[in-house]
Amino acid sequence: MFNRAVSQMEIHMPHVALLSSPGLGHIIPVIELGKRLVLQHNLKLTILVVASQTSEAEDQLMKSVMSDKLCDIVEVAVPDISDLIDANDGIVTRLRVMMRQVCPSLRSVLCSLRPSVLIVDIFGFEALSIAEELKIPKFIYVASHAWFTSLLIYTTVLDRQVQGQYVDQEEPFQIPGCSPVRPEDVFDPMLDRNTREYQEYLRVAFGMLKSDGLLLNSWEDVQHKDLESLRDPDLLGGILKVPVYGIGPLVRPAESNSQDSNRNLFDWLDKQSFESVIFVSFGSGGTLSFEQTTEVAWGLELSQQRFIWVTRPPTAGRADSAFFSTGDGGSQQSDRDDHHPSNFLPEGFLSRTKNIGVVVQQWAPQAALLSHPSVGGFLSHCGWNSTLESLTNGVPMIAWPLYAEQRMNATLLEEELGVAVRPKVLPTKKVVERDETATMVKQIMKLNNNPIRDRARLIQHSALKALSEAGSSFIALSQLAQQCQKCPNQ
Ligand code: UDP
Repeated sequence: MFNRAVSQMEIHMPHVALLSSPGLGHIIPVIELGKRLVLQHNLKLTILVVASQTSEAEDQLMKSVMSDKLCDIVEVAVPDISDLIDANDGIVTRLRVMMRQVCPSLRSVLCSLRPSVLIVDIFGFEALSIAEELKIPKFIYVASHAWFTSLLIYTTVLDRQVQGQYVDQEEPFQIPGCSPVRPEDVFDPMLDRNTREYQEYLRVAFGMLKSDGLLLNSWEDVQHKDLESLRDPDLLGGILKVPVYGIGPLVRPAESNSQDSNRNLFDWLDKQSFESVIFVSFGSGGTLSFEQTTEVAWGLELSQQRFIWVTRPPTAGRADSAFFSTGDGGSQQSDRDDHHPSNFLPEGFLSRTKNIGVVVQQWAPQAALLSHPSVGGFLSHCGWNSTLESLTNGVPMIAWPLYAEQRMNATLLEEELGVAVRPKVLPTKKVVERDETATMVKQIMKLNNNPIRDRARLIQHSALKALSEAGSSFIALSQLAQQCQKCPNQ
């Protein structure tokens, strides 16, 4: 538990408890929301982090929040769940089991903290019943976008309406007021309805209906239609019935690039010309097969574009296999011999590309890299944090979805926002060959007369405007903060 001294003034402020489920991709948006509640809206805050095995990157993040003296962070440890899950269980099941198992500890923490408001992420909905016991308002923070939120909520209806597997349907799913969702784009747990993963996901979908309001990490200008559909009593608002706040894009600030371990990387980047480098990374959990890793390597080499590539050893199995194990900030795991890229990249690749690219093992300071003027493109797995980090820096993308809701994100980026290209066939269905990768790299990196780059700049502008003082997201968070101000400190 990280603690700090409490000032006299804070004692009278409304006290928000903000709960994050395990995983860096969940903790980052929770921390960014927390910072704004404290710095811009003067609320007192405790962040409750449900921690399984926290990675070094997670620890560093929590320590930096503590050193800023913005809030308390309470780590709630997950009891041993090995008897409750099976090796084949997916991420949603694992998260749900962890969140259920920590409920008794959470109850005692919350009963002693006695916050005036509770905000949980989507996997923490069970904790909403504790808020009911404490008679305090409760909100769900969806650290994703409005179209995904609509699908999640509308699954409560689709589950009754659709016969057979979702992926076998011939027509896209019509979600009232939103763009249709293609069967192949559905959230991972919907791929097989006969699994525990789907049942756990369905519980999350019903859990979404139990709060007093939803906070979404997206903004009006880019998702007005979907946000309105969630609010409209004749559309999804008829199912949801609570206020919906678009408060994003909340992204982590760029890391300091002065750390010794990153010095060479930034020295190299400083020497490259404006927007000439493509950054390649598959998030905190993404892994590729051996064959796909080989094709990406050849694709980069054929493109002759400058690159930074964060590599992980190939896996034969799941694309999300590193989800709970990476985020080491580049220390422990990258020291392992089998993680050295020369063990799995094509022979001679590292020496042939040494003048145009840098290969980083396991982990790179992504937010800082994407904000560097030399970076002009991002080949990404389209996790929502990575997506927002790219959008807020005006960096066009190659959308390479691997797991979770990333297929929807890729479709949104390419078809609605126009800031990305993507492989013709989903990378999880067929290996993307080297020529296609090289063509996509050249397409997004073309500096002039490139509509994708122009759109990326427009969206960046829209994002910054939404967060500015008169912007839609700032106003939405102020409205939420005003509601919190009315809640007496318990
Ligand atoms: N990240 C990073 N360095 C890496 C890989 C990931 O800093 O080498 C950060 C990235 O900037 C983002 C987060 O980890 O903030 C990943 O979250 P996202 O939602 O994109 O994907 P997930 O890892 O949850 O699939």
